[in-house]
Amino acid sequence: MSQRDYFEKDYYAVLGVTKDASQADISKAYRKLARDLHPDSRPNDAEAESRFKEVSEAYSVLSNAEKRKEYDQVRDMVGAGAFGGGGPGFGGFGGGAQNINIEDLFGGLFGAGTQGGGSFTSSRRAASTARRGRDVETDLRLSFNDAMAGVTTTLRVAGRAACTVCGGSGAQPGTVPVTCPTCGGAGVTSSNQGLFSFSEPCTTCGGSGRKITDPCTNCRGSGVETRTRDVRTRIPAGVRNGARIRLKGKGEAGAFGGPPGDLFVNVHVEPHELFGQRGDNLTLRMPVTFGEAALGTKLTIPTLSEPVTLKVPAGTESGKTFRVKGKGAPRSGGGRGDLLVTVDVAVPRKLTKTQRKLLEDFAATDDPSALRAHLDRVAANGQEG
Ligand SMILES: [Zn+2]
Ligand SMILES: [Zn+2]
Repeated sequence: MSQRDYFEKDYYAVLGVTKDASQADISKAYRKLARDLHPDSRPNDAEAESRFKEVSEAYSVLSNAEKRKEYDQVRDMVGAGAFGGGGPGFGGFGGGAQNINIEDLFGGLFGAGTQGGGSFTSSRRAASTARRGRDVETDLRLSFNDAMAGVTTTLRVAGRAACTVCGGSGAQPGTVPVTCPTCGGAGVTSSNQGLFSFSEPCTTCGGSGRKITDPCTNCRGSGVETRTRDVRTRIPAGVRNGARIRLKGKGEAGAFGGPPGDLFVNVHVEPHELFGQRGDNLTLRMPVTFGEAALGTKLTIPTLSEPVTLKVPAGTESGKTFRVKGKGAPRSGGGRGDLLVTVDVAVPRKLTKTQRKLLEDFAATDDPSALRAHLDRVAANGQEG
């Protein structure tokens, strides 16, 4: 809390009460808000936590008759424009504040209070406060076939893990943590001594609500140690290259009872020697001879499971793609994509004598002018123009 808080913060608004609210009303409003916003009922809710602090701060001032009077006086001055332009700067403080002893207000209360009282900033938190474990990243390399079929694998993860001696409890084996006697298990203590000592993490238990009477000697009560551990996990069938899988709670162990982080697995899938992948579909290039393409044929196509027969009709052009239903990659929602087979018509590089003779006879019967008629037409037009 800075020294400007009296100027900038409307504690009445924070508690949702009017300026003439009775002490009973203020206490009632505070109790309700504190209950709603308490970190125990709203774990990991940063907004609620910061509201909780605001509310505690407001209550610590308004619940104390003397502080409330000082606060009201400061607020009255702000309202009266005594600070020039209404800004909270202290430069213009000089003449307007006859009724208040500035030294008391800022030197005494704020100075001493800040030193003596507890603040709720994290720096004041005891070292044993419950902490969430960090998220961890790891890489996983899979063969194409394992990625398609799915695989159960073991990931080696380094970092904080549950202590092997106490199993993560932080208590020496044979002993059990007890409910913290200071905070009764709430993890937070409230006190009214000094202006800033209203609500802070319990220093006895560090906010965990439990007290370990006999800390584990291996982890000094934290429940975690740094080591390499194995995480067994199932990678679903059809996982893609570049996929990022989140394994909730499989990251680093939380210390002092905090929740674990997550483990992110970056998947690298080795390319297949035959199959490519396009979304849920697999792709395959299938060389065929000119004769097969021209006359039509039945091809045996490899798939991820048993080979299938593909009928290529007569007169198939090079580059034409055929779809083999349901022989692609597994879909995350069930079922599979298709296998897309593209035929490549191969032109023979070397001909036997017999082949050459046959092809020459064939070429003699073939009329290339029909094939290129549209080109000839365009060329003729060009000459005319
Ligand atoms: Zn331990
Ligand atoms: Zn405690």
